[in-house]
Amino acid sequence: MNFIQTRGNDTSKPQTVTFSEAILSPIASFGGLYVPEKLPELGNEFLEKHLASSYKDMARDMLQRFEIDIASNVIDEALALYDNFDTPSNPVPVVKVKDNLYVSELYHGPTRAFKDMALQPFGVVLSSIAQKREENYLILAATSGDTGPAALETFKNRENVRVACLYPDGGTSDVQRLQMVTEDAKNLKVIGINGVFDDAQNALKRLLASEDFKQALQEKNVLLSAANSVNFGRIIFQIIYHIHSYLELVRQGAITLGEKVYLNVPSGNFGNALGGYYAWKMGLPVEKIIISSNENNVLTKLIKDGKYDLRASHVVNTTSPAMDILKSSNVERVLFDLFGAQRTKQLMDELERNNVYELSTHELATLRECFDADFCTGEEGKGYIKDTFDTYNYLMDPHTATCFKSYETCCDPKIKSIIYSTAEWTKFSPVIANALTGERDSKDLDALVVISNAASLPIPKMIKELFSKEIAQSTIIEKEDIEKEILSFL
Ligand SMILES: *Cc1c(COP(=O)(O)O)cnc(C)c1O
Repeated sequence: MNFIQTRGNDTSKPQTVTFSEAILSPIASFGGLYVPEKLPELGNEFLEKHLASSYKDMARDMLQRFEIDIASNVIDEALALYDNFDTPSNPVPVVKVKDNLYVSELYHGPTRAFKDMALQPFGVVLSSIAQKREENYLILAATSGDTGPAALETFKNRENVRVACLYPDGGTSDVQRLQMVTEDAKNLKVIGINGVFDDAQNALKRLLASEDFKQALQEKNVLLSAANSVNFGRIIFQIIYHIHSYLELVRQGAITLGEKVYLNVPSGNFGNALGGYYAWKMGLPVEKIIISSNENNVLTKLIKDGKYDLRASHVVNTTSPAMDILKSSNVERVLFDLFGAQRTKQLMDELERNNVYELSTHELATLRECFDADFCTGEEGKGYIKDTFDTYNYLMDPHTATCFKSYETCCDPKIKSIIYSTAEWTKFSPVIANALTGERDSKDLDALVVISNAASLPIPKMIKELFSKEIAQSTIIEKEDIEKEILSFL
């Protein structure tokens, strides 16, 4: 399978590129993204075939149908990492919370957030491509909290790859920060920035597009890549768990094969939701994809009113910081799929020039056939955390909680819904402790104990250990100094 570009071709790039090439250089002509030329058709035949399959066996078959240029032994090695999840026989448990409402838990990997779902296998794939080509890569990652730990974890001590990871200082939880700054490996550099996530992401985009920076790297014999969720090497692994979650509902007898379900996705950069959209296009029976946001609700406005409007917006810090994003990069791939390259380029140009674009009435109707959306405030989210725990004995994190609002406002309760849970309770403990007991302003460690007692849940060992681990990464700089800092690391 080959890949084409969301904003058309400026003739500086080949008409199509391979999967490996799209992974290594994820930014396409005019600043666009790579997308598959055509998605494989799976349909009911595929679902029936895999009713009794393991996660890995189903995943292997799906990846094969993409016909990507990755050797099958590498795919096997990548998928084997799901065996290290704390639920190895099924890395993604799907739990019934109440009638017609199921939660698909994407956080059972090493860093306790859903970023592991894609980044764990991605690290193996990327390192193997680099070794095969005898090239050295610098992976730039910008993180609002969960990508960083997951990227560092997957690339730690891998051959031919180094990672520079940018995070907004003060914009992540203690646990997330500790997961990053305690990572000690020669090929990893963690950089705190005085700014918000969009500053980190913009710096990353600028560096990826900078010829001077590439030149400076070349002199050190290093090539540039990115591990952010625009990378199709991550997206492809995010299609799998949507299919898996559906199959789990069939296995549990909750639905019959072919019955449509809602996918309810807490969204930031739209990678998770895009994976669901592609699974749907490939034949998964989906009623609609529901996009949940926090107070940074540009996606809600896009899907409700057809306007992507950043003019009056600035990022607000919320209780679900992994979704504190205004420029949601993967939306572009949906625009391309629905409206084509020419229109996508036009809309993205407008956004860059005027900080706003508006879909036509017809385009909005097309978008709304696939998506609906709502946003949930931090206070509302805490209410859902407490009620869901008190009533159903189910504990969730503040990102997952946003979906409980959009479930109520957007979904027909007669149709089954899958809510995606993107983080374990351990990663955002002060908010959850506050929701459950009213306790205020606690640090992560105290909050973990509060929750552990209130909910009778043990604190997982890898989380507890973070607080006594040595700090290996202490760089915090202004955003202007990022380039210099990275070059001196190399
Ligand atoms: C990254 C992340 C999200 C947002 O996912 P996207 O794919 O960027 O939309 C939501 N919740 C958590 C906990 C995350 O880490």
